[in-house]
Amino acid sequence: MAPAPALTPAEPEAAGIEPASAPMAEASLFAEFADNPSPVAIPDTPSSAAVALPADWDNLRAEVAACQRCRLCETRTQTVFARGNPQARWLFVGEAPGEQEDLQGLPFVGPAGKLLDNMLAALGLDREQDVYIANVLKCRPPRNRNPQGDEILACQPYLRQQIAWQQPAVIVALGRFAAQTLLDTEASIGSLRSKVHEYAGVPLVVSYHPAYLLRTLPDKAKAWQDLLFAREVMRRQG
Ligand code: URA
Repeated sequence: MAPAPALTPAEPEAAGIEPASAPMAEASLFAEFADNPSPVAIPDTPSSAAVALPADWDNLRAEVAACQRCRLCETRTQTVFARGNPQARWLFVGEAPGEQEDLQGLPFVGPAGKLLDNMLAALGLDREQDVYIANVLKCRPPRNRNPQGDEILACQPYLRQQIAWQQPAVIVALGRFAAQTLLDTEASIGSLRSKVHEYAGVPLVVSYHPAYLLRTLPDKAKAWQDLLFAREVMRRQG
């Protein structure tokens, strides 16, 4: 990944994001990640332990493309595996494909994706080289309804395997479903923001979903704070 350039005030504005004025998080927040974490150890759950997954990216992608583990296979146009660089140090995790994603087979290519791209660019990140982007669900829920618990459970082994192979240095969970799934919690986004969490030994930061930001413009400034916070977490990862 290219080193992130210093931010100028113009960058967040160019991204449609108000610059954050809040200071960086306290050093103590990062203490447990002062040393590089060991390779990602994937937590096993009874549901995932029973699932045998393929041994490489191509076969995992093919298995997802043919997946019939839940009802969403009946209504999807195509599965949405991921986008970007599977060796990137950044991983962004969203909720589920929307209409455009379902049509194109790529995550975050609709209006929310445009905002995410702008935010990444403002951080100095190239969306193809510097980040890997995946969703909790690989199939679009009908009419973009919320993911259901059994759908998340059925799909979880795929994301877990993607993370195990990518071994990102930092994960950014975008929105409630990504945060709650990865952290196995029912806590609100508000209470999860501005803290360094952990998924399988990888530091994880929570922010708002870009689609929510499109509807709630004042929270863009908070999302920008979250990304600056995540960048600081990344910086401390070395
Ligand atoms: N929203 C998501 O969470 N993921 C996408 O890929 C698109 C919109």
